[in-house]
Order: sequence, then structure tokens, then C-alpha cells
Amino acid sequence: MKKILLIATGGTIACRPSENGALAPALSVKEILECVPELSGLADIDKFQLFDLDSTNIGPSEWTALASVIRDNYDGYDGFVILHGTDTMAYTAAALCYLIQHNKKPIVLTGSQKSIYNRDTDARNNLLSAFLYVVSEYAFGIHIVFDGKVILGTRSRKVRSKSFNAFSSIDYPETAVFRDGKLISFLPAPKDDSPVRFYDRLDPAVFVLRLVPGMDAGIFSALMPKYHAIVIEGFGVGGLPGGPEGQLLSAVQSWLSSGRLAVFSTQVQHEGSDLSIYEVGRIARDLPGVLEARDMTPEAVVTKLMWALGQSSDPRTAGKLFSKPVLHDKLD
Ligand code: ASP
Repeated sequence: MKKILLIATGGTIACRPSENGALAPALSVKEILECVPELSGLADIDKFQLFDLDSTNIGPSEWTALASVIRDNYDGYDGFVILHGTDTMAYTAAALCYLIQHNKKPIVLTGSQKSIYNRDTDARNNLLSAFLYVVSEYAFGIHIVFDGKVILGTRSRKVRSKSFNAFSSIDYPETAVFRDGKLISFLPAPKDDSPVRFYDRLDPAVFVLRLVPGMDAGIFSALMPKYHAIVIEGFGVGGLPGGPEGQLLSAVQSWLSSGRLAVFSTQVQHEGSDLSIYEVGRIARDLPGVLEARDMTPEAVVTKLMWALGQSSDPRTAGKLFSKPVLHDKLD
């Protein structure tokens, strides 16, 4: 039997209503496991209660803590299952893809939209699927397993706030799906001979600016003292309002020339940015040092910037790290 480490971080899957009726994580990993007794026949499971958090409260320091638990236990286990709230699960999954590179063991995140104690919960199915995937011969990489889908960490997004089919694989095929309880695998493990590498530094000073029509350019100087990178979520395939003489263009120019990173992306969920199509895009694309998200998810863009800036504060080096694809996070 494969040896799997089950790491609990909280989330709805571990929630019980508190006295005022609001849900808060309260169940231990042991109590959760007891709700799905068939798991003990699938794997030899050790439990690790890392946090007891609503995932709204999970961020860069929890991501590095999670990566270091996996690093410390890497040799002792065949795979890892992480129980996590759904709200920021896609951020954690993407962050782990950058913190643990050339990974050779399956690492799966799962959770649920309803607590495991609800009569109509999705928790038991998700937990069972996570284990069926992690012990399977097809398992690799860092994935979210949710509602019968196995989705690459770099491609996953929460797309529904209440329904069971809460996650989608954005602009990339699912790695595998479950049909009638059977695992159907589509994507093979990538060939990778490099040894696994763990990183432990992230720079959280990344801001996401969602453009709205008529936005004042003064926002850039207001953000400068606190942030090292900005993601500019434009409209459609991306671009900058105001033209070549506009204030937004000179604000981005000063941002870049101060040694900060700027990534252009889009507010549109699918198909990504392409600054080469329109003039409003080309004025942004032609700025020296500017970066483009293309088909990356917003979660992957933000966490990759944090990782890249964690490795180097030099904008050219960090920009190069950002541009190099990791685990199918963007098409070459
Ligand atoms: N607020 C919860 C969390 O993300 C939602 C969930 O787990 O589904 O922790």
C-alpha cells in the first residue's frame, strides 16, 4: 500500500457551525478521516494537522509553511493530500507549483463546498477521489481534485461560489476525470530528469490593479512605496487607455523605470491577453521590461511574481524567472 501524508489546513470540509451559526473550521483531521472509512483500504495514511483556518486567512506565509512540511516529509511518503478551504485553494495550488519544482510525487489539494457533516455534502466524494488519484499509477504533479476533475495547480480557478462543480481548468485540458467512479487519465507526467527543488522565499508585495474606464493614473504613485510588482488587468486582449500621450502610459513608464515589475493581463476569464493585436496593446507591449500574462490564470500570475521576486529583487532576473513556463502555466 502507498504511504500518503494527509495534511489538514481547515476550510469548509472541517467546519461545524459555531454558537452564532457561522461556519468555522472545528473538525480534526482524525474526525474527517473517520467519515470516509474506505480510505484506510486505499492507502497507509499518516495525519498532520497544520492549520485550522478558513482559507480566506491563508496566504504567502502559510504557503511556505506547507511547502516546508512537504519538504521535510518528502522522502518518507509516496504522495500528499492537502485538505484546504475552496476560496483560496487555487492560489495555494499555484503557489506550491512554484515553491516545489521538478516535483516527482503527487500532491493533491481538495476540500468541499459543504461540511463533511452535512447530509448532502460533497466532502466525502472529493476526499475519496483525491485518494483514488494520489495512489493511482497515473498520478503526478500538483493538482486540485474536486467534483470528479483533476486540475493542474497552475490552471485551476474557483469559478462557482456555491455549486459542487466549483473549479475549472482554465484554457488547458483536465489531467484526468472520474466517470462512474473510474479514473480516466488524459495527460501523462511531463518528462523531467532534474531533481526536485524546494524554494522557501516569496515576496508578497504584488498588487493587482483591475482597470475601470476612466481610471486616474495617480494610483500608480500611490502604490509605489508598498509594491514591487503590479498586475494590470486590462480589457479584452489587454492594453492601456489614454494613448501614447496619456497619463497612464507615463505612470507605467515611471513604475518600470523605478525597477518594479509590471505584468499586463486581462479581466476576461478565458483565452488570455495578446498585446500585439491593437494599438492600445502595442503601446504597453513596447515599454522596456514589460511582461505579459497571456493565458496564465490570475492566481498563477500573482504567485509566480511573488516567487520570482522572492528569488531576486533585480527586475531583469525576476522578469526572466516569471517568463519561463512552469508546469504548463502558459503556452510556449
Ligand atoms: N470559506 C471557506 C474556505 O475557503 C470556503 C470553503 O472551504 O469552501 O475556507
